[in-house]
Amino acid sequence: MFCYQCAQTSQGVGCTKIGVCGKTPSVAALQDLLIDHIKHLSWYSHQTRSLSSEDPEVQVESNLLTEVDNFIVNATFTTLTNANFDAPRFVSLIDQAIAHEEALAALYSESAMAFDEEPLVAPWLHRELPNGHKTASEVDIEDLVSHSKKVGVLSRLRLARNDALVGLQEMLVYGLKGVSAFMDLAAEYNKHNAEVSAFIAEAYSFLLTKEAASIDNCIDVLMKCGKVNITAMELLHEANASFGAQTPATVAVKPVAGKAILVSGQDLKVIRDLLAQCASYKAITGEHVNVFTHGELLTAHAYADIRETGHLAGHFGSAWQRQSMEFGHFPGAILMTTNCLTPPQTTYKDRLFTSGSVGYTDIPHIADDYVSVIQKAIACAGFTEDDESFTYPPNPFIPEAAQHTVGWSGETLLEHVDTIVDAVKAGTISRFYLIGGTDGYDGERTYYTELAAALPPTSVILTFGCAKYRMRHLDLGEIGDTGIPRLIDLGQVNDVFSVIKFAQALSEKLGCIMDDLPISTVLSWFEQKAVAVMLTLLSLGWCHIRGGPTTPAFLRPSIFTIMHDRYNLKMISVSATRDVTNMIYGA
Ligand code: SF4
Repeated sequence: MFCYQCAQTSQGVGCTKIGVCGKTPSVAALQDLLIDHIKHLSWYSHQTRSLSSEDPEVQVESNLLTEVDNFIVNATFTTLTNANFDAPRFVSLIDQAIAHEEALAALYSESAMAFDEEPLVAPWLHRELPNGHKTASEVDIEDLVSHSKKVGVLSRLRLARNDALVGLQEMLVYGLKGVSAFMDLAAEYNKHNAEVSAFIAEAYSFLLTKEAASIDNCIDVLMKCGKVNITAMELLHEANASFGAQTPATVAVKPVAGKAILVSGQDLKVIRDLLAQCASYKAITGEHVNVFTHGELLTAHAYADIRETGHLAGHFGSAWQRQSMEFGHFPGAILMTTNCLTPPQTTYKDRLFTSGSVGYTDIPHIADDYVSVIQKAIACAGFTEDDESFTYPPNPFIPEAAQHTVGWSGETLLEHVDTIVDAVKAGTISRFYLIGGTDGYDGERTYYTELAAALPPTSVILTFGCAKYRMRHLDLGEIGDTGIPRLIDLGQVNDVFSVIKFAQALSEKLGCIMDDLPISTVLSWFEQKAVAVMLTLLSLGWCHIRGGPTTPAFLRPSIFTIMHDRYNLKMISVSATRDVTNMIYGA
């Protein structure tokens, strides 16, 4: 196997024996094969779209294109870091991809002929599945693993003999994985966007063409990916707004006596559906179950429609990477959504469930009926007293915050923009610091805590994603006497969309271009959603972006130099205080 798609990759180079995340060589191989089939599907999808869509026959058949669009984002999402470790699920997805590919190839040929055009020849070598099998489920896993070697990163590194170019091409795949994650979550609410779907197909398809052998072409498509990601994040923002806009709230971090379910990840729809089913269950059986959030689902408390269900009891724990230490202390059922699952420990494995794109061998997967999760919670001990008997899982690096403040995002921030502008003009705010992204294990990530603590008292921190757990315990107070916190939690990774809107409003009110706004950005990257966000900010010409804690393994030094020269992208230094000094002066 070879995988270097995330920050925890082995020795900063690549996972070759087993993933540091726990991904097995078999799953890595199946994911490579799946992505290869997604590229083929995308090529047919892009070519079919490129034909005129005026023909009524094509309009009728476009249902297939929509079905394939949805498949592509969902299947891509399953390949994110820490999302899915379940080999049979990937075999099934590969089979679905093969079936879609056959149908779409036929649609493309028919459509081309209908338009009097000669169908283009697919730009890849057709490879039969081993032993002449027609479906992956008929093939032995070992044979599939061997088969996938022809399409993995290593084979392309050998063929291209240009690690910088292959790294850029992979970066595009990772950016598409981030975009697909947001699109797949939005699709749960039946929110789709044809422009984004068409771009995903075009970008995957681009990777099969000769044009992808040019570094400049790859960077152009990467910037397009960043721009398209704004639409994807906006779509998810609108989808989540079906719970109403975010509004300010404080979230308790303490046990509440009673039966309990912990929900981790990012999927707000899952937690909303679970809460509704807890209410129905109580109406039928009289049994009450409290629901607690973990990780990025802290943001669920920002939505009044979610927090007022009568079952959302508080928050438990911190960022995703501490789950193996924290889940064992939780005395109830645990439901994992989206891509934050680490290999389960025996202390809680029998109480764990997955949903959506997440999967793990032998862990029950829930589609949309959460009654088995509720019943598991009822069978568990639950919290027995409100405070006294419970020992919170200790974190030697970061003290737990007594409570969290959420909801100062999106519309809330825009409502207060005049007050904030007045504070900027009065000098109460000297600079904004966008510090967010995904958290991870690395010791170097203490940098983000040191950075937040070292900023001057006239700074405002805008944070998002689970990077917030590196600074939420800091008592930074308010902006003057405005009641607006100096540490503003924008929400989840996709809620960086809010800061883009906020910056646009700020620049209009201050009469300057976005480039001249007093904003410094420090991204904490871990996985592919953070890559998509970084591309978005770069594509907007967002100035002064630092990334860390380590340079992505796929971003080779020659490419990093190009990104620095063109987009002023920098890595964090070893000293947070030195970076603060530079950022104060806009460097
Ligand atoms: Fe390694 Fe990250 Fe790939 Fe897992 S996802 S195998 S940790 S690079």
